[in-house]
Amino acid sequence: MTLPTPHWLRRSIGARIVAFSLGLLFLIQIASFSAIRASLGQHARNALPERLMVGERVLLSLLDQNAQKLSEGARLLAADYGFRSAVQSNDAETISSVLANHGARIGASEAALLGTDFTLRAASGSDLRELGVLGPRLAARAASGGSASEIALLGGAPHQLVLVPMKAPVVVGWVLMGFPLDARLAGEMRKLSALDVTLLTRPGPDAPWTAALTSLPRPQADELALAGWRGTAGTMQSVQVAQEEYGMQARWLTPTPDGGAALALVSLSIDEAVRLPRDLQIGVAAITMFGFVVFLFGALFTGRHLSVPLRALSSAANRLGAGDYGAPIRGLERPDELGQLARAFDQMRISVGEKQEQILKLAYWDSLTGLPNRVQFRDAVRDAIAKAEARGAGATIAVIMLDLDRFKHVNDVLGYRVGDLLLCRVAERLSQQMVRDGDVVARLGGDEFAVLLHEGDAALAASVADRIRAAFDAPLTLEEHTVDMGAGIGMACWPQHAAEVDALLSRAEVAMYAAKRRSAGALMYDASFDAGSAQTLSLLTELRQAVERDELLLYLQPKLALDNGRVSGAEALVRWLHPTRGLVPPMEFIPFAEQTGFIRTLTMWVFEQAARHWLALQAEGIVLTLSVNLSTRDLLDPDLPQKFDALLVRHRVPAEAFCLEITESAIMDDPTRALTTLNRLSGLGFKLSIDDFGTGYSSLAYLKRLPVDELKIDKSFVLSMEKDLDDAKIVRSTIDLAHNLGLTVVAEGVENAKAWDMLRELNCDEAQGYHMGKPMPASDFVSWFGAWMATRASKTRPVTSVLMH
Ligand code: C2E
Ligand code: MG
Ligand code: MG
Repeated sequence: MTLPTPHWLRRSIGARIVAFSLGLLFLIQIASFSAIRASLGQHARNALPERLMVGERVLLSLLDQNAQKLSEGARLLAADYGFRSAVQSNDAETISSVLANHGARIGASEAALLGTDFTLRAASGSDLRELGVLGPRLAARAASGGSASEIALLGGAPHQLVLVPMKAPVVVGWVLMGFPLDARLAGEMRKLSALDVTLLTRPGPDAPWTAALTSLPRPQADELALAGWRGTAGTMQSVQVAQEEYGMQARWLTPTPDGGAALALVSLSIDEAVRLPRDLQIGVAAITMFGFVVFLFGALFTGRHLSVPLRALSSAANRLGAGDYGAPIRGLERPDELGQLARAFDQMRISVGEKQEQILKLAYWDSLTGLPNRVQFRDAVRDAIAKAEARGAGATIAVIMLDLDRFKHVNDVLGYRVGDLLLCRVAERLSQQMVRDGDVVARLGGDEFAVLLHEGDAALAASVADRIRAAFDAPLTLEEHTVDMGAGIGMACWPQHAAEVDALLSRAEVAMYAAKRRSAGALMYDASFDAGSAQTLSLLTELRQAVERDELLLYLQPKLALDNGRVSGAEALVRWLHPTRGLVPPMEFIPFAEQTGFIRTLTMWVFEQAARHWLALQAEGIVLTLSVNLSTRDLLDPDLPQKFDALLVRHRVPAEAFCLEITESAIMDDPTRALTTLNRLSGLGFKLSIDDFGTGYSSLAYLKRLPVDELKIDKSFVLSMEKDLDDAKIVRSTIDLAHNLGLTVVAEGVENAKAWDMLRELNCDEAQGYHMGKPMPASDFVSWFGAWMATRASKTRPVTSVLMH
């Protein structure tokens, strides 16, 4: 079973170190104390027999000394002249009184005079009758040794008997003296040997022992007497007395154990002998206490030494966790492991901080241009909206979004390095247009950039967009290449166009794509651009229905040969006769149809109508080339050539009857796929024409690689050609170049005779414009054709010269 660790102990390393150190010290002390105790005890036990033996010898020598001393006294008496004369004169009275006086003086309780035959002649004291037994034995020893001593029981009490001769000069008698053995003996014995001695006596062999004298406490001595002695004299025996173990050694003091006997027991309390000496105990306790105090302070110090820096590290780790990488970690200078840990931590802090910064940079900044990225821009717009909301009613913000034209083309033709360079330069030019603090220029990705006007309205957005366009007008020189920049620019405002950030961004984007499609420069968002808006969803449904309900109309606009005014062809242009809105111009639904993909259906409709009208015109004897407009989506549809071919077969019309007009931008969106489709269409026999030439950025050199037959100069140049000399130059050089490449040139937007004449002079091949004929319902075309022929005929030229073939 494990004891539950207290909470405070689990919480603190310092407390654990203190507890552990003290516990360890305690165990060590206990162990060493036990070892000392066991060893000392063992030692004491081993030394016990020896000590008792020594004790016994001490006792004997004490008794011997005692006997000597007493013998001395007895000898003095024996040598006393008065006494000797009294003995010789047999003066019994004097003898008795001398015996009594002298004996009393030297402490003898008994004194007697024996005859030379050891018979009792006179005695003081009462117990010498008992000497009847002891006398002869003593006498025998005295006779041989000159004097003798012995211990005997007199009146049941142990006495030291000494027997000395009385010489005058021959032995005339013997002096016998008896001294009671008393507690002094035991006291002296203890003093000399630190052992206890107990004298047991018994009057006869079967009589119980009594303790005559002892240095033990009385009750123990009595118990000892009661237990008696059953061991062998001279060997150690252990005895349990009063719950204490004693080591004992016995010695018969009386020579005849059959009569009254005295036994000396030299004893030692084993428990006491084994017990640690008190000063040792105190010493050990003091050392332990001292050790405890030292360990306590040591452990407290170590604990603090560890726990303070550890706590500092843990709070530093918490700070790191909370994202604070700024504050350095303390304790770096320490040379120990904690210092190492702190340094490792600090290293970690620095590298995590750097990584964090890097991640933040990657997350919020565009690494190529150094501009904020889409995420940061979105945040900035969101914040700007929040601030504008706080400013209250009337506050607006504006977002401008740009998508570069032909960026993919730059990448493909000039390489990614130049592409990257272009993006950086665009970023620079954009940033230069921003003068107000708080406005943000960002790169949203690819060739898309955005500008936030944090306190901008539609008017400001339009003027900034104009500035941007103006800044883009100057071509960029990237290494040895010169690149014209252009961009579709879309604008949207909060709160007019969207209530929150994502909607606002997507509205600006919708406006941007609309602007790109129309090559319209900059456009402010309008719900009609938006394929996703409720308005456009219903528009899509309406457009579908328009086809089913025959609301679409095919208009034709004539194309005329400039040299002789001959009608060379007509361009098919779609119109929508909306049940409520009336005639809707194509610019209001073509971009939307392109965006939703509906343009494919529309193109097929126009193509089929054109085929029918071609047949109808042919039936009238008018054979013309009809131009049909294709859009980007059509070009990207790999099935388009095959669908057209099927239609031709169905209506039995030759492909040569059609010219397909494709804008430059439609080709440039994905030149490779466009080229594939164009090659197949050309292979089928269709004439191909580049529409709106001059608004895009394709070079003639590039167009040369396309299988085109015709080039239509955009009306914007033609319209201003008379007034603008530059435009006139553009038209002229375009015509020359196109001719050099073997292409027919058509001028759009001929609105007056002057333009007509200018173009004729410039050797332009064909013209199309309001001057000759506006787009008209296809059904009206035959009558227009008649009228035109008539007009031409009334002029200098014969009608036949205007007619084809
Ligand atoms: P576009 O292909 O360049 O067609 C010529 C546009 O110039 C026509 O505008 C025409 O009415 C206009 N125009 C012709 N002569 C003059 C002139 O003397 N002065 C002026 N100011 N304008 C002149 P429209 O019919 O509004 O069509 C606009 C554009 O819509 C077309 O430009 C063409 O890109 C697109 N579009 C029209 N119908 C179709 C179609 O059936 N399919 C496709 N994909 N696009 C079409
Ligand atoms: Mg056209
Ligand atoms: Mg055109």
